[in-house]
Amino acid sequence: MSASCTIVDVDTSHWDRLREQMVEDQLRKRGILNLSILDAMGSVPRHVFVPETVRDLSYEDRALAIGHGQTISQPYMTAIMLQVLALSGTEKVMEIGTGTGYQAALLARLAKQVETVELVPELASQARETLAALGISNVNVHIADGSRGLPGEAPFDAIAVAAGAPDVPPMLLEQLAPNGKLLIPIGDRKQQILTLFQKMDSQVVRKPLGGCAFVPLLGVHGWPGA
Ligand code: SAH
Repeated sequence: MSASCTIVDVDTSHWDRLREQMVEDQLRKRGILNLSILDAMGSVPRHVFVPETVRDLSYEDRALAIGHGQTISQPYMTAIMLQVLALSGTEKVMEIGTGTGYQAALLARLAKQVETVELVPELASQARETLAALGISNVNVHIADGSRGLPGEAPFDAIAVAAGAPDVPPMLLEQLAPNGKLLIPIGDRKQQILTLFQKMDSQVVRKPLGGCAFVPLLGVHGWPGA
């Protein structure tokens, strides 16, 4: 007697439909109108980045647990960050907090080169694998304390911090190119204000954008580890 086993490969069109719906209901209807961002978020398969345990929730309007006490942001929050950065495709970008690699994959479509930094080695290796499996070759994943930035790779035209800091890490401001933008949630461990810093001539202009809730940025210029 032979056991039969059917492998059910969930039809890709299922995910495509959910992704289209996410773009329409969660992004376009809420005012994300930049076509490159809508196109990127309509193309990058978020479900491939999230762990299997939450895969069914990949296109829901919420943050998801990705292990190691970390989360992947709600898609709308990711879109807001991309919208504020307003990338044209020529930039060198640093992301702090690689997590699953999803936002890095979006940045990779919207900028020229992405250097992303993750503190948890397991998350970094998983993200590297996922990005490679999708053939994304303009992202380098670094295992390091991103609160120090990546001095050897600076300057950056844009820096996106995907974790909340007590204040802006001075080393990140130093690594901004002229006219560069640094986007970072600043506040306490649970709630922050998404804040934009822009380097103009010898000045840095600080602009608070609105409330948000990210996991804490750890490291020397972040919060002490739990
Ligand atoms: N952008 C990610 C989600 C980020 S979650 C995505 O698209 O999936 C925040 C991440 O920041 C977590 O993975 C956490 O481990 C990482 N992190 C926290 N402090 C850090 C630090 N000092 N340096 C680098 N990564 C850090």
